[in-house]
Amino acid sequence: MMEEGAERSLSVHGCPACGRTYFGDGAECGHCGAALEEKFVTGRGKVYSYSAVHVGPEGMEAPYLLALVDLDGSGRVLGIVEGQDRTQLRVNQPVCFAGISNGGPVFRPAEFSGKSRG
Ligand SMILES: [Zn+2]
Repeated sequence: MMEEGAERSLSVHGCPACGRTYFGDGAECGHCGAALEEKFVTGRGKVYSYSAVHVGPEGMEAPYLLALVDLDGSGRVLGIVEGQDRTQLRVNQPVCFAGISNGGPVFRPAEFSGKSRG
């Protein structure tokens, strides 16, 4: 279950050499081969760019929105944005981490969480 408005911290792996950020388990950076370090982020970020996927891999319900999300100063990750019509999603829209699906992160628009925090 996801708690509405709860602050979640999210474990990711970051590359100290090139600054890339990865989800899931990984020992080496897929880009430069450096050893990855685990780090924790708030799970909040902003949409950097996105595109709609109409034919996804097996098991994925399409269409869905795939977005590059800039985590709060912690790198950029690729994830799905749920609960949003693509005509309404926009660059720089605040999103928050909602869970993991099919091994990748799922975000939802922060504005959709409704109630104010606290
Ligand atoms: Zn790297």
